[in-house]
Amino acid sequence: MISIRDVSTVFTTAGTDFTAVDHVSLEIPRGSIQGIIGFSGAGKSTLLRNINLLERPTSGRVSVDGTDLTALGDEELRRARHQIGMIFQHFNLLNNRTAQQNVELSLKFAGVEKKERRRRAKEALAIVDIADKADSYPARLSGGQKQRVAIARALATEPKVLLCDEPTSAVDPRTTASVLQYISDINAQLGITTVIVTHEMNVVKAIADNVAILEEGRLVERFDLAELDRPG
Ligand code: ADP
Ligand code: ADP
Repeated sequence: MISIRDVSTVFTTAGTDFTAVDHVSLEIPRGSIQGIIGFSGAGKSTLLRNINLLERPTSGRVSVDGTDLTALGDEELRRARHQIGMIFQHFNLLNNRTAQQNVELSLKFAGVEKKERRRRAKEALAIVDIADKADSYPARLSGGQKQRVAIARALATEPKVLLCDEPTSAVDPRTTASVLQYISDINAQLGITTVIVTHEMNVVKAIADNVAILEEGRLVERFDLAELDRPG
């Protein structure tokens, strides 16, 4: 379970404070898919980055499976982060490395030894049906293929949590459906708690269990999608 308790993130630019995330609390059940939706600038990306402390909250606490990440030192935090995979709107692959090498690099950072890295990278690429592109460089891949390589990279370290920052905003509608299907299958098969940030309601409707709406940094509404669909 991910527990976000009273998290605020304040950016200070040229002496002026700007509150991007404003006292947000949210409990995300283990194994669920949580959607976070809102307009551009609402603070979605910042809140997502607060979960793995890519952006350290100014105040409040974030814990994953009972470990308070905000209380960890640098070394412990680095280790805890291997439990949290992340994918991005623009894929963030290294262009001078093949698909396989991109995945292997994340395993290297996680301290996995070389032979094991090869095996696990192949396995992760196979999960998203892209093993045949293992030796391709990102420039030779379509947007959907790049996002699948990025998903493989995130999965290879066997995380408990997958954070998705606008994962379908840079791909066409058909590819969107395919990327969402992979995320949803991985959630169902591997039980990875998933958080997906998007400005598109159809994206959360397609896969989320619960939805939280952010407005100007504040969590203004949350609902259970299954409940919404229930008749009567
Ligand atoms: P969203 O993901 O909902 O589009 P963001 O979390 O990216 O929103 O940004 C929320 C607000 O915080 C925006 O106004 C953005 O400009 C601002 N912001 C984000 N990151 C920083 C930063 N590193 N420094 C200053 N302002 C930032
Ligand atoms: P994306 O749309 O791919 O999520 P953004 O443009 O929102 O990317 O943000 C890219 C980077 O710029 C992030 O690291 C974010 O924290 C930073 N950033 C966003 N808005 C601002 C801002 N107003 N001032 C400084 N940094 C910002």
